Amino acid sequence: MVTREQEVDDSTVAVPATVGASLVVAGLDAGYGDAISVLDGVDLEVPAGKVVALLGANGAGKTTLLRSITGLLRIHRGRITAGSVHLDGADITGSPPAAIVRAGLAQVMEGRRIFAELSVEENLRTGAVTRRDAKGITATFDEILELFPPLVDRRSDTAGYLSGGEQQMVAIGRALMAKPRLLVLDEPSLGLAPLIVEQIGEIISDINARGTSVLLVEQNAMMALGIADFAYVVETGRIVRSGPAQELREDAEIQEFYLGISSDGRTSFREVGAYPAAKTWRL
Ligand code: ATP
Repeated sequence: MVTREQEVDDSTVAVPATVGASLVVAGLDAGYGDAISVLDGVDLEVPAGKVVALLGANGAGKTTLLRSITGLLRIHRGRITAGSVHLDGADITGSPPAAIVRAGLAQVMEGRRIFAELSVEENLRTGAVTRRDAKGITATFDEILELFPPLVDRRSDTAGYLSGGEQQMVAIGRALMAKPRLLVLDEPSLGLAPLIVEQIGEIISDINARGTSVLLVEQNAMMALGIADFAYVVETGRIVRSGPAQELREDAEIQEFYLGISSDGRTSFREVGAYPAAKTWRL
């Protein structure tokens, strides 16, 4: 695992390798088929070089928003019906996924979708399919092994046999092989033990410190608000709260419903999905 000590010891690690891209989502409506409307006028911004968290319960529309941004919505028989998505000022609304990757946006999908039968190295190299610069690909590969020391000795191992945390490193590393200026992660903490979640959070911070903007979709609000600069809360397809992450961390409603801390300071351990459905915030 990557530790703070390892990061500090290696003075080359902190040098920004990329310049983060900005993302602007404006007035986005999206849904599936002709009848299912999911997103309703979503406005969201990732300023260049920042980490932005998107929080929300099951079914709130987080994955649909990510699919709208990354061009994958059409694969799921969905479509954008209004609004726009701009990456560094370029209109990428409804562009094909490969064109969006080439424009500088890469995604780590929910559920660590690695190729279980391929080796760690083969998995990582699949992330560079949109690139043609062989030398640059080798340099990025070396940088990724620097970022994930546990993968160095395991590069020839079959990825399916790695631990959950190591598989998540492979999934993140594969996205980084595209050398993105904006990295989008869909629930990277899902199914991982608390200590590993913490390490994944540190890795995301390291990636951001190297100059990559990050949009982080999480149900683990504790981790997400711990590393984000700004955060948004989505409920039933609408953004209902937004602000500096620090501000949301200190908000009583966010604490109760997303951090599981009740007003008297006790941790309730309630699942996000069990929060009162009628509880909504409006700005
Ligand atoms: P989760 O955390 O459970 O992934 P989410 O916030 O990412 O939830 P979405 O997956 O975007 O939410 O789902 C939002 C709504 O869209 C849900 O009502 C879901 O049933 C619906 N939905 C998602 N995918 C499809 C699809 N391919 N076809 C039809 N409806 C869909």
